Amino acid sequence: MVNIILKKALITGITGQDGSYLAEFLLHKGYEVHGIIRRASTFNTSRIDHIYTDPHDAGARLFLHYGDLSDDEQISHLIYNIKPDEVYHLGAQSHVRVSFDTPEYTGNVTGLGTTRLLEMIRRSGNGIKFYQASSSEMFGATPPPQNETTPFWPRSPYACAKLYAYWMTRNYRDGYGIFAANGILFNHESPRRGETFVTRKITRGIARILAGKEKYLYMGNLDARRDWGFAPEYVECMWRILQQEEPDDFVIGTGESHSVREFLETAFSYVGLDWEEYVRIDPRYFRPTEVENLIADARKAREKLGWKPCVTFTDLTKIMVDADLREAGLEPPGEGDEFLARVYPDRWWTRD
Ligand code: NDP
Ligand code: GDP
Repeated sequence: MVNIILKKALITGITGQDGSYLAEFLLHKGYEVHGIIRRASTFNTSRIDHIYTDPHDAGARLFLHYGDLSDDEQISHLIYNIKPDEVYHLGAQSHVRVSFDTPEYTGNVTGLGTTRLLEMIRRSGNGIKFYQASSSEMFGATPPPQNETTPFWPRSPYACAKLYAYWMTRNYRDGYGIFAANGILFNHESPRRGETFVTRKITRGIARILAGKEKYLYMGNLDARRDWGFAPEYVECMWRILQQEEPDDFVIGTGESHSVREFLETAFSYVGLDWEEYVRIDPRYFRPTEVENLIADARKAREKLGWKPCVTFTDLTKIMVDADLREAGLEPPGEGDEFLARVYPDRWWTRD
């Protein structure tokens, strides 16, 4: 009998947008995947329910464990017992606007959570590889384009916490020789994006307007510009970053920037609506300090990881509108679905 040893990955934040795609990607690659989930009074696993099988089934390769990034004890227990080959640290209080309301909590989970993991990896001495989900928000007010050598200028408690985690990752790499790498990812979206991030808020809002459930969409700063990509393409980079010979840091993004206003125009016009009739401004969504413009210079990723995104702005918008219309029980125009079927005929992610 041949004993096949599977690579083991531990994913924090497996119930989030990226965690769910990454879990699917790693299962497709043949990994045994472990994920940390939080206990909640309602089910919070909807993004991974379609890949979950009963752990008692022969061949089950996805295992979930309760834990919290603020709980040192449980993190160390999981690292010790699972003995993963690779840790993908995606768990975080990830919402910039919310971080202004909960700065200390954000620092604890998004910042210190990384240190807790790194410290356990150091103590385990098992040669575990570590991926840190760093963010373009760390560049903040530094004008674009931004690459791996651009100075940081964080503009929110979230960005400050991520910057601390970024430097801890580099320090553990330099000081202890741990294979610890930062992926500095620009905004990436999908039908699984959290409902309060701006892209999903817009595409879901359109579906609710068309379904007669809402009259208006209340928005904040429409002038902000982001480099928006497609999440499944970005989680593949996380894996590629950990397969390099040496640990290193990489900027990942499309190299195109668009305003929130352009996203509104593109998404509403796709379903034949004039966005200005449906959008109202609510100052509650303004931020005390804003990040005006992010554009990735991802040449290093292109050269060293061989990575180039296929999905850019207009197609991303259509993919997300199609999915939200379908979820609302409406017939989507279908151009996003057609695009995906053409570009990714054998795609590894399912359900949306
Ligand atoms: P999500 O907000 O969709 O997911 C965050 C995940 O973290 C969820 O699984 C959440 O669990 C978990 N989490 C939150 N707090 C805790 C905690 N205290 N203990 C354990 N788990 C916790 O984020 P994304 O998937 O979009 O992003 C993944 C990572 O990448 C995040 O770190 C984010 O900051 C970073 N990032 C994201 C970018 C993007 O554009 N999406 C860009 C750059 C970086 P639960 O489901 O229970 O809430
Ligand atoms: P971020 O880049 O991580 O902050 O991602 P978001 O999707 O939350 O926000 C992107 C940009 O959209 C920011 O500059 C926000 O100020 C802007 N924005 C404008 N209106 C809204 C809104 O109603 N909700 C959110 N989340 N962002 C908004």
